[in-house]
Amino acid sequence: MLFVFSAPSGSGKTTIVKEILKQYPEFHFSISATSRKKRDCETDKKDYFFITKEEFEEKIKNDEFVEYELIYDKNYYGTLKSQVDDCLKNGHCMVFDMDVKGALSIKRIYGDKSLLIFVNPPDKEAIIQRLKNRGTETEETLKKRIARIDFEMAKKDEFDYVVNNDDLQQAVEDAKKIINKYYNKEQK
Ligand code: 5GP
Repeated sequence: MLFVFSAPSGSGKTTIVKEILKQYPEFHFSISATSRKKRDCETDKKDYFFITKEEFEEKIKNDEFVEYELIYDKNYYGTLKSQVDDCLKNGHCMVFDMDVKGALSIKRIYGDKSLLIFVNPPDKEAIIQRLKNRGTETEETLKKRIARIDFEMAKKDEFDYVVNNDDLQQAVEDAKKIINKYYNKEQK
């Protein structure tokens, strides 16, 4: 099963994904490739494969991606075939953290093997405040992330489930309930 989490940037999606991975250590995280710059708090080959735009475009040419998007008009983000194929071959469950377009691509490709979960933030103001507090963005990238919020929110009805993130612990519990409908812990 492929569990895909999406939400506008700043919704707390990555925090939820990390918590899920802690609670299901047998799940594999799909490490995406990106051409965006690494943040100080991130680790290469763990959070992302941080590569240059040229390297990314080379991988596109070599057909190495399941899906990829140019997000915020600037940076590439993509799911590597190598990440997904190995896991599926070995029957592992996978967790994805991706934008809404990427999530819908995964559904188109993998159908019922994938489950799309939208992390619904309390409101737009809360996301903007979170993005500002995080201190990871420049004025320009902050603007681009804010500009994309409405587009991402408008896609939520196309997801299999919506988890409200008013309270982090509750959101994690709700996400676990959904996962447990499809995943039998006895399989561990
Ligand atoms: P960030 O720069 O905040 O890490 O990520 C920006 C957006 O790109 C987030 O919505 C994140 O979930 C998404 N993203 C990360 N990896 C992928 C991927 O492999 N494919 C797609 N389509 N989006 C991704």
